[in-house]
Amino acid sequence: MNETASPRSVLVTGGSRGIGRTIVERFLADGHRVTCASTSGEAPAGALGVACDVTDAAQVDAAFAAAEEAHGPVTVAVANAGITRDTLILRMSDDDWDAVVDVNLKGAFHVAKRATRSMLRAKGGRLVFIGSVVGLHGTPGQVNYAATKTGLIGMARALTREVGRKGITANVVAPGFIETEMTAVLPEERRAEYLAQIPAGRLGSTDDVAAAVAFLASDQARYISGAVVPVDGGLGMGH
Ligand code: NDP
Repeated sequence: MNETASPRSVLVTGGSRGIGRTIVERFLADGHRVTCASTSGEAPAGALGVACDVTDAAQVDAAFAAAEEAHGPVTVAVANAGITRDTLILRMSDDDWDAVVDVNLKGAFHVAKRATRSMLRAKGGRLVFIGSVVGLHGTPGQVNYAATKTGLIGMARALTREVGRKGITANVVAPGFIETEMTAVLPEERRAEYLAQIPAGRLGSTDDVAAAVAFLASDQARYISGAVVPVDGGLGMGH
């Protein structure tokens, strides 16, 4: 799928801001029909915005129904919605754990399950999960977040084995540190520490991530599944 391919119905969760927003804009620029499902329901111009809390399966189902009504069967789904509740483990409450697991992991499960239904009928599709370098690298203060991001890899790989023969691929894009609202709140000294570890010598841009997502959704990537594609300036050294 690219600018020259026929338009496809794409659904991106968490597309109102940050990385998700740029992913939505990239698919629009490539000529696709895009639905943006997030809690606020806000979306870039040209996309269909739907208010949807991914922790609720019924709301995810309704978002897909709206997308399919407007744009036809969803054949590209990007599970991007994600949150952090960082703190060291001894201070991490069950609420901190549950909130992050509910959005990042259960939300992705809801999206994958509903998307797979459409993709099986359409005899093909692309599932892309937005993971994180933190899932394989680990970061202190992110026990909850890291566990969800590693969990997405297991989800994509199990799905690859379940539906690989049906023309459906499932991959994880693992961004490093990207300039967004999520990273804007990092303390200056933490930011400097991260920069020192990134071989590329800069934080990533949301465009860097969107390019990898667009590739995995394209026809050229049809034989890639169960993969983790790092977009981290070398921070994770390929992991
Ligand atoms: P932002 O905080 O900028 O945006 C988060 C998005 O998720 C918003 O669109 C928000 O919707 C949506 N969202 C949050 N909770 C829910 C929910 N329950 N249901 C539906 N939508 C929800 O995040 P980023 O762009 O920084 O991150 C996007 C993804 O990339 C996340 O999965 C994150 O873990 C991952 N990532 C980010 C990195 C970074 O450096 N920023 C690095 C590695 C991975 P709304 O605005 O409507 O509330």
